[in-house]
Amino acid sequence: MSKQQFENFTASSLYCEKCKTAMPVRDRLLLVLPDREIFDYLCTGCGSSVGQREVTAGDKLMAQAVGRRRPRRASTQTLLH
Ligand SMILES: [Zn+2]
Repeated sequence: MSKQQFENFTASSLYCEKCKTAMPVRDRLLLVLPDREIFDYLCTGCGSSVGQREVTAGDKLMAQAVGRRRPRRASTQTLLH
């Protein structure tokens, strides 16, 4: 049960008014503008739109830069003095 609660905290779940609960969503590219992209979030239960997100060109560049710089030593979590 606790595992299920934990999963509800992921950003891919949003409250759906039709389902009356937080539902997993899938994002769909709605609109592409010269300086931004608009995504629509659809409830996977009933298919209705539960939210939208704007991604500006600046955000996208930043996300790409962060992704490239991702550290590769995630497995070394042991703390040593
Ligand atoms: Zn729904």
